[in-house]
Amino acid sequence: MTRTTIHVDGTWRGALSGETRDILDPADGQPFAVVAEGGAADADAAVASARAAFDSGVWRGTAVSERSALLRRVADLLVRDREELALLESRDAGKTVGEGRIDVDCVADAFRYFADLVLTEGAGRVVDAGSDTVHSVVVHEPVGVCALITPWNYPLLQASWKIAPALAAGNTFVVKPSEITPLSTAALIALLSEAGLPSGVANVVTGPGHTVGARLCEHPDVDLVSFTGGLTSGVKVAQAAAPGVKKVALELGGKNPNVVFADSCDTAAGFDTAVDQALNAAFIHSGQVCSAGSRLIIEESVRERFVAELSRRARRIRLGRGTEKDVECGPLVSLAQLERTEEYVASALGDGAVLRSGGARPEPSKTRPAGGWFYEPTVLDRCHRRMRVVREEVFGPVLTVETFRTEDEAVALANDTDYGLAGAVWTADAARARRVAGRLRHGTVWINDFHPYLPQAEWGGFGKSGIGRELGPSGLAEYREAKHIYQNLAPRPVRWFSG
Ligand code: NAD
Repeated sequence: MTRTTIHVDGTWRGALSGETRDILDPADGQPFAVVAEGGAADADAAVASARAAFDSGVWRGTAVSERSALLRRVADLLVRDREELALLESRDAGKTVGEGRIDVDCVADAFRYFADLVLTEGAGRVVDAGSDTVHSVVVHEPVGVCALITPWNYPLLQASWKIAPALAAGNTFVVKPSEITPLSTAALIALLSEAGLPSGVANVVTGPGHTVGARLCEHPDVDLVSFTGGLTSGVKVAQAAAPGVKKVALELGGKNPNVVFADSCDTAAGFDTAVDQALNAAFIHSGQVCSAGSRLIIEESVRERFVAELSRRARRIRLGRGTEKDVECGPLVSLAQLERTEEYVASALGDGAVLRSGGARPEPSKTRPAGGWFYEPTVLDRCHRRMRVVREEVFGPVLTVETFRTEDEAVALANDTDYGLAGAVWTADAARARRVAGRLRHGTVWINDFHPYLPQAEWGGFGKSGIGRELGPSGLAEYREAKHIYQNLAPRPVRWFSG
């Protein structure tokens, strides 16, 4: 990858300051690419490019069918470059190549979904004004220039959930990927150009949050900020955008409960499935998933059997470089993330949690270089709601275990979080499943499953998990303004004033 990862007005270039950043491979801690380290001046240039493209009407003025067709071409190009993109995402974010492939497929699905959705919109919604001489219609228009800011755990996927609807709606944008995982986003922007998107519509600035990101949020020519990332940064984003009264969408963290009732484990197959999915919920991508099922909330009567088996399987997870065959789980994305995880585990043990598996960096091996940021999948038993590890997002391979005796207690524990992104309930009792799902204060609730999402269904959170929704019809609505056009077909004076 070159140092020219900034794309402004159709041209790839380096940072105006000339600064660069080494991109490190989480599997060995070594640099494997160099990118442009943009700053506020690069953000300004990119916003000017997006503003000019928006005002010119070069994209918003195109027929909806043309925009839809372009999104479909992007999906086809993603399929063509699937292997290359999956590998890039694996090197950059540390995930396995298999996960990278799934990500690319999901990205293509998101482009196809919004390509289809925008076609179903028609010419607006006719409103009955109660008069034969009035024609009243509500139409949708693009918001304008969008700043799209994304995190490092699903760089390509999170970018696509913003870029696809923003383009479908006719906006122009500047995307700022995480400074530590910018490569796949730059590759996606190149595909947009290849698909025929006019210059200036899609811009990317690689660089840090506190300079590039902060400038985009406060920039007077930005109309909308869509941010995915941590709670602390999200608050800063909202504050920076407030004086300009920009539209703000926030997709923040989660502390997601996985509620297991004993009856889901009554049969051998039920037990096996619930344990397997609890493992997957907590440890896929080393737990660096906003919707990770990091809180196991289990009925007391089945706790020991369940946690023993879960811990046994957790110890067998094959950790290693994501590009190696047979590796099941990659490293953490950075040394900072590794140290943060260690700190949470130490604090939990200090608070009385019982370590059932993991709790350390693994020994190096053939597939696990010594400099890699690996951490063993960790199960912490006997946790309680006052522990930091139960309340705060670790974003590492750490699962806490809490227990309940009654349904009310299970619901109370599952809802006892400032977040509200996702959660699951496991039970063989269909009526109870629906009852509990109805009471959970989370944006997505899975019954007897964990993690699946659909591009057609809204994704987002209650509480401090964010504001707004991505995906589904609401995911497109975020990028549009509604405009009511009221046409009087027989105008005459109203005579409110006598003169
Ligand atoms: P982060 O908040 O550190 O960074 C996210 C992005 O914001 C990066 O591009 C960063 O450079 C930028 N940024 C940081 N400070 C900024 C500021 N002041 N102004 C503007 N931009 C700024 O988050 P992260 O560590 O990259 O990602 C992990 C977090 O993302 C976790 O909390 C996770 O739960 C969340 N996440 C949420 C979802 C979701 O759908 N809700 C999905 C993925 C990740």
